[in-house]
This record gives sequence, C-alpha cells and structure tokens, in this order.
Amino acid sequence: MSTSVSAKSPAGEFERRSKRAEQLSADAPVTREPLVFAAALCREQSTVALSIEEAHLSRPLTGRLVEDIGRVLPLLSPVVRLAAEHGPPELAEHARNRVGEDPSVASSRLSSLWSGEASAREDYLSRAMLRPYAEVLRAYGVSPDRLHRQGYCPFCGGAPAVSARKEMPDSNAAARILQCGLCGCDWNAVRAICPACAEGDPQKLPIFTSDAYPSMRIEACETCRRYVKSVDLTADARMIPEIDELLALSMDLWAIEEGFTRIEPGLAGL
Ligand SMILES: [Zn+2]
Ligand SMILES: [Zn+2]
Repeated sequence: MSTSVSAKSPAGEFERRSKRAEQLSADAPVTREPLVFAAALCREQSTVALSIEEAHLSRPLTGRLVEDIGRVLPLLSPVVRLAAEHGPPELAEHARNRVGEDPSVASSRLSSLWSGEASAREDYLSRAMLRPYAEVLRAYGVSPDRLHRQGYCPFCGGAPAVSARKEMPDSNAAARILQCGLCGCDWNAVRAICPACAEGDPQKLPIFTSDAYPSMRIEACETCRRYVKSVDLTADARMIPEIDELLALSMDLWAIEEGFTRIEPGLAGL
C-alpha cells in the first residue's frame, strides 16, 4: 500500500499548514508562540491523518463516529501527547489529564464535540483530535453522521472557523468563502448573511478592520453578537487563512472585549 503524501491528501494539507506556520513564526515576535504551536500541531495531525487514511484503506471507515471510534481513538493519542508536551500552559495541563484516559471517557468527550453539544465548543483538544479523522472522511467522500444546519459546512455541518476573500478566475469580483473548523472544507458564502443566525440586514453586519493588519477583518453580526475573521487572499495567495489569521490575534481580543464571540475558535483557541 502506498503511503506517499500527495499535495491534496489530508496529510499533505496538514503539512502545508505546518510549514506556513513555521515560516510566519520566524518573523512574528508578538504571536510567535501560537504559530510555533500551530506548526507542531499540524505536523502531528499530518502523521495522524496518514495513519487514519491507512486504516480507512485497509477497511473503510463509516463516518459514524460511534462505529469508527474504536479503531480511530488509538490513532489520535499523538495529538494529546503533543498538546501535553508543547501546548500553551492551560491546554498542556488539560492534555496531561487526558493522556492515558479511560477509552470510554475519551470516546464520550469526542462524541460530545461530534454531536455539536454547545458545552464542547471550548474543547480545543477534541477538535484537534477529530480534525484529521474528519479530513480523511472528506478526502474519501464518506459522509459524517453529523447534524447539518444552514450557514455551516455543507460536508460535515461544522461551524466556519475562518473566512477568506479570493480572486475568481474570469471574474473581477472576489469570492467569499467560509472554511470549516472540523473537516477543513471551504464553501462559497455571501457576506450578506450571518452564518450563525442568518441575519440579512446589512446594517446589522458590521465589518471591523485594523491598520496593523490590512489583510484581516472581523465580520460581525449585531443580532447574535458573533463574528468570523476574514483573510484577504487577493493580497497574497500564499496565505493560508487559518494559519495567517494567527498573526492578528489582537483583533480577536478586541472583538471579545467588545462583547462578540467568534463563531468557532481558531487554532489559537480564541
Ligand atoms: Zn466540515
Ligand atoms: Zn448573527
């Protein structure tokens, strides 16, 4: 069986993110730590994705977590160990408590996030563990048994973690995409509608910018007080939204201070 990493394989995508985070961290004194950790996490997720892919190729995964978890859970433990050893202090402590955790407890934590329980929103580690699984399912077109809702990921029903504007071939206008925080899928979505609550009144959908980060903006909703961070890829196509947005964490801190909540936390956990 071939285990080579092609450009579009889940493992290759994680590796691409890792490299971008590593590059940016070299010249980012303010947010070096989150970028260095993102580089390490994505590298570990790449290895995990490869082992999940191998498991899928030997016997197909079902996309139903309750059925796949027995096979997948042991493959996810490197993510927990990585977080325990290299994560920021709070995450590292949480991860240390989960290293060697009883498999039934570990499974039920992952199930909570998978089923979209509101209390699991802050469970950074479970999301980081399930991401390679979800990306492998997407790569092989295995539908996950998750609830779908309007404005969320068309493949897995995950919440948008980040937004981007990119140039469309044969068009002068830039397209707006949202990207799923769970399976990495991106989809076209008009700015005119809040992905969280479907508010469509432009007066209630303010955009906040910062002179310090001209490619980034906060796309907020006054109705549900939630926001998504947007990266302008038309400025530099090398940017990877979920990595590059880590340069501008001060914008999240500002939005949180203003009483907004990010629809889905990014790789820095904000
Ligand atoms: Zn998704
Ligand atoms: Zn809203």
